[in-house]
Amino acid sequence: MNKPLILMTGICLLFLTRLSARAAELDVRGAELRQGQALQVRFRAEQAGPFRVQVAGQTHTLFEEAEAYQGFVGLPADQKPGGYTLRILDETGQTLASQKIEVYPGSFYTQHIRFPSPPLTPEQEAVVQAERQEMDTARASRSPDRLWQSAFAVPVPHRVSAVYGTRRYLNGKYNGYHGGVDFASPMGYPVKAPADGRVVLARYFSKYNANGNTVFLDHGLGVTSVYIHLSKVLVQPGQLIRKGEALGLIGSSGRSTGPHLHWGLYLNGQNTDGLHWIRFTQQL
Ligand SMILES: [Zn+2]
Repeated sequence: MNKPLILMTGICLLFLTRLSARAAELDVRGAELRQGQALQVRFRAEQAGPFRVQVAGQTHTLFEEAEAYQGFVGLPADQKPGGYTLRILDETGQTLASQKIEVYPGSFYTQHIRFPSPPLTPEQEAVVQAERQEMDTARASRSPDRLWQSAFAVPVPHRVSAVYGTRRYLNGKYNGYHGGVDFASPMGYPVKAPADGRVVLARYFSKYNANGNTVFLDHGLGVTSVYIHLSKVLVQPGQLIRKGEALGLIGSSGRSTGPHLHWGLYLNGQNTDGLHWIRFTQQL
């Protein structure tokens, strides 16, 4: 093969690579992460969506925004560490692009809690079940519009009394890991929205409900957050709330040993470390 031909072949190959890269571009931020952390997927293609992201047993629809499709995935605290393949799927389930991700072990505490939990009567159990159903519905809320424009902030400026991911034993029995962040806040202190969002649930739950009085926000693009154990709820379902506005007051309702805020952050319904999410959104 003579020199000009080799050069031309090289240029053609480069051209082809460029073309295919433009046809489908996948950008994953946070592809090396720890249990409980978040990653962002951005996907561009010449064909129109919908597209889904599939990784580590989760499948979520991507949201169309600014000529790209994007979404956030949270890997839970009990996700098995190791390598996974993240795939972008079209409507038929065909893989359009893929990338390896690596999940490293988080470092989590173990905590033993003693709390009186007398058995509920069937009537009380029915009330709690109905309330749980409402929580599940709120968690499934997915506003396709991004309501938050800047990085998330802490909802209260106080000491963290329980980090995300702590393995908990309630009265000697494993009760799952702590799916949020607890702040040691004084009774009655205002809890502020960490970002713009829409209120999807705001209500006083029965005293048998572990969460107590609860507010749930949908920030859009699959990002939701919950505020529990409140003494007072200050917002209404459907209301838009701005970053920094008060949504409720610190309390000790539900299963709580004293005044504090439990703040849960969900990405497509999967609980994720809110403190990591704050740092993550500062870099977006
Ligand atoms: Zn908590």
